[in-house]
Amino acid sequence: MEEVGTGLLDRLDAMQRVAASAPGGPLLIVAGPGTGKTRTLTHRIAYLCAELNVYPEHCLAITFTRRAAEELRARLDTLLGPVAEDVTVGTFHSLGLTILRENAGAAGLPADFRIADDTERAQARAEAGDNEAAYLKLLRGEGLVDLDELVTLPVRLLRDDPELVERYRDRWRWVFVDEYQDVDAVQYELLRLLSPADGNLCAIGDPDQAIYSFRGADVSYFLRFSEDFVDARLVRLTRNYRSSPPILAAAVQAIGPTTLVRGRRLDPARLDPEAPLVGRYPAASVADEAGFVARTVDELVGGVSHRSLDTGRIDGRSSSVSFSDIAVLYRTDAQAAPIVDALTRAGIPVQKRSHDRLRDRPGVAAIARELRHASGLGGSLAARVRLAGQVLADRFAMPTLDATPAVAPADIWAAVEVLTPLAQRCGDDLPLFLSQIATGAEVDALDPRAEAVTLLTLHAAKGLEFPVVFLVGAEDGLLPLRLPGATPDDGEVAEERRLFFVGLTRAQDRLYVSHVRRRLRHGSERDCAPTPFLDAIDAGLFERLGETEPRRPKDRQLRLL
Ligand code: ATP
Ligand code: MG
Repeated sequence: MEEVGTGLLDRLDAMQRVAASAPGGPLLIVAGPGTGKTRTLTHRIAYLCAELNVYPEHCLAITFTRRAAEELRARLDTLLGPVAEDVTVGTFHSLGLTILRENAGAAGLPADFRIADDTERAQARAEAGDNEAAYLKLLRGEGLVDLDELVTLPVRLLRDDPELVERYRDRWRWVFVDEYQDVDAVQYELLRLLSPADGNLCAIGDPDQAIYSFRGADVSYFLRFSEDFVDARLVRLTRNYRSSPPILAAAVQAIGPTTLVRGRRLDPARLDPEAPLVGRYPAASVADEAGFVARTVDELVGGVSHRSLDTGRIDGRSSSVSFSDIAVLYRTDAQAAPIVDALTRAGIPVQKRSHDRLRDRPGVAAIARELRHASGLGGSLAARVRLAGQVLADRFAMPTLDATPAVAPADIWAAVEVLTPLAQRCGDDLPLFLSQIATGAEVDALDPRAEAVTLLTLHAAKGLEFPVVFLVGAEDGLLPLRLPGATPDDGEVAEERRLFFVGLTRAQDRLYVSHVRRRLRHGSERDCAPTPFLDAIDAGLFERLGETEPRRPKDRQLRLL
């Protein structure tokens, strides 16, 4: 045991070690990007279990996205081995679902309640009109709950039942929350119910990366942690292990005096003096910007086409970059298409995170319904999915029969294809499978090992890191985002700046920032200025790339003649 614990903490720096081995009681870890917060969190859980005889089943670790939860689970598996399975790891939604499943009766739900799919929600909405209570009653009549209720119902249940609160506090004696800066009011209340004011709650986060207030998240819960929890211990981590010094310096300057962390420090742990500057590319057009990304990717990867067996990353010394090392980040999904086009035309593989949820696909909804109703289907879950697809396709081919789940066979087979890996991951647990679909599993969860350039929004990039990052569309109007007829207020601009900060700090070795001069926005071509957030960054940190002279009016006239 001793060596396990010591070995574990050896992989942390002094402050990370203080955080990971802190005694029980409320603990707040405040630290900037890339300082090892998530790493410290997993090591703390592992340390408590391996060294202090904390039972893994007494630990509850909560994150915000399914992907982050999977990542956490994987890291715990590596550190703890099979006992990691006893740690409860999940999102607020999956935690709420667990509590409701265990107390369905008390919550006024049938034991086999399910989460309403989109069709069912739309139907109930149409029937209920504007009446929210009537809407929920209709769902309830069908044994359904709305997705949002996965957190509100457990809160109501616990609020009214102190004994139940005690039971859960006894089960989860150690609670950990990553990205605590993004909790909303209901999630916060759930945490307060699960964790007494002097409980073993470990909250981790960075107020300067609070980017979800548009969804109701409120960074003030983070800022008042020590008022809410008795004798809270505070640990700050200040060494950034992720980014090269120029990238880190640019990011720190970008967040600048608007930081929400008093006395914020972020020092580079990496000291590579040869690290390249931040590339800045002023593009003439969207096509020019996309071409720049494709060309640069090709140079970075293609330039070392002899890399074959060399799996090393670029680090300023070796130049081998693989497609999976590269991410393109943007503010709005609409920006992805020209980049995907240009990369694909250049023969560069891409994977794009889609916000398409499985349950939004007609074929998926039909298969889920078929599985629920047709208990006679046998075999493994994956085989049952295929069989359900066949049943639906056959039904479609016989138009004389009732055609009400009539979904086109192409949609059905596409759904079978995307559902099969999920079915395999769920073993033979049908309720788990259905709840994964209902709680918003994404169609194409990104595969970090896929040999492809990753495209994703700045919001989706939170918590991730890549050796090479392109931040495209760094323009006023996109960052900060301006929607037609609305001017962002100071608070919104500050949040957009934090989003820019999140984007810059995803990069490890190379960062490229680009902006275009003219872009189609809200239906017409507009002149664009670079984002004002760039003004805070020292010009000396940039290498200006491909500077193109703006076309002189004379040229244009000549062409007209
Ligand atoms: P973010 O705010 O972006 O979520 P974070 O604080 O959670 O960042 P991590 O993702 O945990 O940071 O760590 C960033 C990177 O630094 C990872 O690659 C991690 O392995 C590495 N790292 C963290 N701590 C150390 C350390 N003590 N020694 C070496 N590498 C470290
Ligand atoms: Mg993290």
